[in-house]
Amino acid sequence: MVIKGIDGPPPLPQGFAVMTEYVVPEHLAGAIVTVDLDAIVSNYQLLRDSAKGAITAAVVKADAYGLGMARVAPALAAAGCEVFFVAHVSEGIQLRELLPDTEIHILNGLLSGAEAAYGDHRLIPVLGSLNEVDRWIAQCGDTPLACDIHIDTGMLRLGLPADELNELAADPARLQCLDVQLVMSHFASADVENTNQSARQLMAFRASREKLPMGRTNLANSAGIFLGAEYRGDVVRPGIALYGCNPTPWTENPMRPVITLSAQILQVRHVAPGETVSYGATHAVDKPSKIATVATGYADGYLRSLSDTGYGFISGIRVPVLGRVTMDMIMLDVSEIAEDKCRPGMWVELIGSHVTVDDVAAAAGTIGHEIMTSIGARYHRRYIGGEN
Ligand SMILES: *Cc1c(COP(=O)(O)O)cnc(C)c1O
Repeated sequence: MVIKGIDGPPPLPQGFAVMTEYVVPEHLAGAIVTVDLDAIVSNYQLLRDSAKGAITAAVVKADAYGLGMARVAPALAAAGCEVFFVAHVSEGIQLRELLPDTEIHILNGLLSGAEAAYGDHRLIPVLGSLNEVDRWIAQCGDTPLACDIHIDTGMLRLGLPADELNELAADPARLQCLDVQLVMSHFASADVENTNQSARQLMAFRASREKLPMGRTNLANSAGIFLGAEYRGDVVRPGIALYGCNPTPWTENPMRPVITLSAQILQVRHVAPGETVSYGATHAVDKPSKIATVATGYADGYLRSLSDTGYGFISGIRVPVLGRVTMDMIMLDVSEIAEDKCRPGMWVELIGSHVTVDDVAAAAGTIGHEIMTSIGARYHRRYIGGEN
């Protein structure tokens, strides 16, 4: 039962229209994202090799981290991936239409009011509380349906806390109503160097596992795979490393880069020392300069925190962002670039061989996950590789 209290969404107006999605054609796009499906497949294979005997699943939540689940998931399935994770039940329903035979797990758990959709689309909820366990049992009736049990070992987000785990483990009547596929937990700091949190979580997981010895174990995200065999479990669930970001930030990136982002120059102007660039006049030009205005902004996921810190490349020369990132545009210092290399209609590399997603994330003070999942709807997406 969903209780739509005072904090629920406002009621739907009468006769509302469903908007259909608009895809920007290439010749009208101010910026183009290229997604290399072969690189995703090769990253999947590298992770599978690194995970040794473990089953390697793929996390394709948030539209495959912004790259387009409709293209990415079938490419992974063609490469032999048989187990997929998404966050939302709605994502699971979309994925089920793309991949009729694959195993799909729903990380956010059992959404209240949507219980029937899981059975209808053969989606496996990752049950993270006794409340969810009991709602799933109620949903199953007499036939136990596939589910996972998530145990919290220190993330404090989802997962049964110790008292709920003990209550479940001591209750055979409840357990026999469940067809448990995976017993899982999630590391809070797998990508943090010099922490013992992962080791402590692993110890907590092992103790919990003794109480719930059914199904397979499922622990590692991308970074977890590289912590060592004991941190992986029977099934690993990488996301970000598939998409080319570094799962081991303290050492060289073993993954193949997956995306490029090229944005078009709209205007070029010459400016005198003392003039200021963009909103708030945060950047004063200190020498005669040339500035290019480029068609990407924070509405496209080029985060506002890249103001004065982001950079692109033209012909292998670094061109820094000057002043604030605006909604639809950035200004780059192209003083070092020859006239014939930066005219309106020419392109700037904002992600590519000179500046990676991880570089952009570092300049923005965030992680690759946020850069990827912010990639905007106004970009044209071009897919290369795969089976097409
Ligand atoms: C998103 C997510 C993953 C994937 O993590 P990456 O860091 O992208 O590999 C794995 N497990 C859970 C529970 C997640 O929420």
